[in-house]
Amino acid sequence: MGEASINKLNLALDVLLKNDEIKKSLNGLLLKPKIFKAKTINAFCWAEKDSNNIHLAVSMKMIEVMDERSLILCLLHEFAHLIKGHPQFLLKLNPILFTFKVILFLFFLTSIYPYVTVLPMIGLSLAFAGFISFVAFLIHRRFKRKFEFEADEFVVRKVGKKSFIDVLEVYFEDDLETKLSSSIFDSHPSFKERIQRIQKISLPEQKVQ
Ligand SMILES: [Zn+2]
Repeated sequence: MGEASINKLNLALDVLLKNDEIKKSLNGLLLKPKIFKAKTINAFCWAEKDSNNIHLAVSMKMIEVMDERSLILCLLHEFAHLIKGHPQFLLKLNPILFTFKVILFLFFLTSIYPYVTVLPMIGLSLAFAGFISFVAFLIHRRFKRKFEFEADEFVVRKVGKKSFIDVLEVYFEDDLETKLSSSIFDSHPSFKERIQRIQKISLPEQKVQ
């Protein structure tokens, strides 16, 4: 792992960790940044179950390609997730969805039980279990996509639209063309969808640029 990359990431984190909002969001949490080797520009954060650890993973390529300011803005997007409690929410969402799945499944089972024999019941149960798992997956994805827009908006409100769109152009530089749309199965909105959402944010005059 290049020493220069580690220094560059640390420098960006130093700047961000001086921010009061970020400091507050990390209160009681332990930030664990790491660099991973990847051919793509990517960064993400997640909360760890049953611990105070918050992980922030940044790809080596992202550190290499981005200048200091762009890197800071991308990381600010990640910290926006933390400030808004997204990783913590997603951690809670899985057991909530699981409970709903179990309740719905039991309800379904007791509803069909008096009317069907064993074999069709097994078939129907499996089909229903598959269906509710699929719906739960779509709900999870929907939240993730919504959170991306919220984190983008947080950054835009701090630095303005143009600054962050410029950074997103670098972020998506490898696949700007293919990232024009996304589906309900995707965890992230496309570049185009993010830009469109950013354009719709209403900012005070001086931040419009
Ligand atoms: Zn994000």
